[in-house]
Amino acid sequence: MAVATPGDTLTALPTHHFAGRHSALRSPRSRSEAPRGVQRFYWFATKNTPEGGRAAPAGHKAELLERFGSWVESIPSIIRAAAEDKILRHDVYDRDPLLQWCKGRVTLLGDAAHPMMPNLGQGACQAIEDAVALAECVKMQGDMIVALKLYEERRKDRAAMIVRCSRAFGNVEQIENPLLCALRNAAIRLVPACISLRQLASILDPEA
Ligand SMILES: Cc1cc2nc3c(=O)[nH]c(=O)nc-3n(C[C@H](O)[C@H](O)[C@H](O)COP(=O)(O)OP(=O)(O)OC[C@H]3O[C@@H](n4cnc5c(N)ncnc54)[C@H](O)[C@@H]3O)c2cc1C
Repeated sequence: MAVATPGDTLTALPTHHFAGRHSALRSPRSRSEAPRGVQRFYWFATKNTPEGGRAAPAGHKAELLERFGSWVESIPSIIRAAAEDKILRHDVYDRDPLLQWCKGRVTLLGDAAHPMMPNLGQGACQAIEDAVALAECVKMQGDMIVALKLYEERRKDRAAMIVRCSRAFGNVEQIENPLLCALRNAAIRLVPACISLRQLASILDPEA
């Protein structure tokens, strides 16, 4: 979740079409006074709800403030700073990893190849890794069909690992039973930082 200063202008980003058992409520933001071009970032929050949920009668912002209003002050501040009509609500979906990305001279990249839950903030990062690998394979291989197969071989397992990790994180993050939540929170506190960092490195570093 990004921290925004109340009063900043908010603009729309493309809508995402993901899945799951919960809805994502998020608001994009821009700072038009930024010295080099527009800096845009967004925050998002998740809530376990039945699929197809709509805004509460009082609106997204009221619903968010009801849920997060008592959190550390920066959180309700950025919620209050968002314009109601710029807050988007979507169900989010992922998909089991595909066994095959390519068919002849056609391949998949990004969310088309590996839609994932947003829990690790890796969907677009993985699309960029795909693009780099694809460019390298096409440069190395004159034959496009061989190049696309090579690209698939280089990317498929890592992307599948991140789809699964992101889903697993969500399953843990979205536990609702208060006792299990307390156990989860205690267990997370006990994990040594070096183990968390090693786990993070395997996600962030394509060479790890
Ligand atoms: C709440 C949330 C938070 C996220 N946070 C992060 C994050 O912090 N870090 C991160 O790396 N990723 C994050 N992601 C994931 C990231 O947004 C996606 O993985 C990424 O946008 C995928 O890029 P893409 O180009 O594959 O697909 P898209 O961004 O979906 O782009 C596909 C484009 O194709 C267009 N299109 C579709 N059909 C057609 C058609 N028939 N003809 C022409 N155009 C078409 C669409 O309009 C769209 O513009 C988040 C996602 C969500 C939902």
